[in-house]
Amino acid sequence: MRDETLCLHAGYTPGNTEPRVVPIVQSTTYTYDTTADVAAVFDEPTKSLIYSRFANPTVMAIEAKIAELEGGVGAMCTTSGQAASLMSILNICQAGESIVASAQIYGGTINLLSYTFKKLGIECIFVDPDASYEEICAAIKPNTKAVFGETIANPALSVLDIEKFAKAAHANNIPLIVDNTFATPVLCKPFDFGADIVIHSTSKYMDGHAVQVGGVIVDSGKFDWTNGKFPEFTEPDESYHGICYTETYGKAAYIIKARMQLMRDFGCYPAAHSAFLLNLGLETLSVRMKQYCENAMVVAKYFQQSDKIESVSYPGLEGDKYYDLAKKYLKGASGVISIVIKGGKDKAIKFMDSLKLASNEVHVADIRTCVLHPAGETHRQLTEEQLKAAGINPGLVRFSVGLENVQDIIDDIEQALAQI
Ligand SMILES: *Cc1c(COP(=O)(O)O)cnc(C)c1O
Repeated sequence: MRDETLCLHAGYTPGNTEPRVVPIVQSTTYTYDTTADVAAVFDEPTKSLIYSRFANPTVMAIEAKIAELEGGVGAMCTTSGQAASLMSILNICQAGESIVASAQIYGGTINLLSYTFKKLGIECIFVDPDASYEEICAAIKPNTKAVFGETIANPALSVLDIEKFAKAAHANNIPLIVDNTFATPVLCKPFDFGADIVIHSTSKYMDGHAVQVGGVIVDSGKFDWTNGKFPEFTEPDESYHGICYTETYGKAAYIIKARMQLMRDFGCYPAAHSAFLLNLGLETLSVRMKQYCENAMVVAKYFQQSDKIESVSYPGLEGDKYYDLAKKYLKGASGVISIVIKGGKDKAIKFMDSLKLASNEVHVADIRTCVLHPAGETHRQLTEEQLKAAGINPGLVRFSVGLENVQDIIDDIEQALAQI
């Protein structure tokens, strides 16, 4: 089935007299007839439910939907996008090892990889998203366990050359992890271009309505974990009575290992009610993504012709640095536009504070238009050098186009630009 249909129907098929809508199973626990039944569940934890720290029927229905949308073999929801990034890497990388990441990624991920991972003994080597195949390969060390990038980078809006990064990762027998938050599976399916693992902050377009913070990890099932670089997958897991993940779970080894080891130990699993809310967003994801793209294109063109704007980044615009990559990888350039206001930071802030319809929010990809000043807000902890590497100018405004009537959005921009 196609995306519009999957958004509505994948992951849950009610039987005779069962609820039409995915039910909220707000229960931490499940009951069993006998002690032997409980013991059996511990022997084969994927066969039934144990405890809602790592599995819940409502959440699992949404996981199945997202896995189908991305074309993967399985998915696991997390309580935030940050938790998804963290666990997607910790599932394959440990102290004394390293990862290679695109330098143009979400500021929270840069913090996680640069500082918190360092404390855990994991080194992160950043490369420019425009690095050549050879440069990416040169950054990969013998102890590097994954390559990481964002389909459309937040907020730099560079488009990742997924095939190039996947080729470099695979030449070194390691997987490519792609954060597909801004594109969503509706605009890009990274697995089709060689990515092995996809993660999302579901707090953004997937939810869309700004009602739940969440994340998800999706496994393509295509990476060969038995290539000798990943003994944790092929050797017995002492913490799970000697299970060998690739042997027992085959193509789903990665995502089942993530649940059985990391979710069991960290417990950052969403509540059933959050998954229910996320599902309401997912049901309309296809319809909304088309409209975000359409509105954003009109707004980007409006910014482009304004003499108060120094530059506009929107990969859907002809002439944008990433236009060709966007054409190759995306069905639409999504709803976020980065603009640099002439006159720098002060003018950017004046413009933002003059907006009446668009709100100042620490959010993006909302159903309502919102703006943010990355250098002064989300990325304010980055050094000048890191800001530059992340593609963030002090006058940059991240403009997240919503689903209001586009003429109302433009009227608002027009009056705010008139104030500066
Ligand atoms: C917001 C965001 C994250 C972090 O997600 P949270 O749900 O806020 O934890 C990760 N990646 C990208 C691209 C994001 O936009």
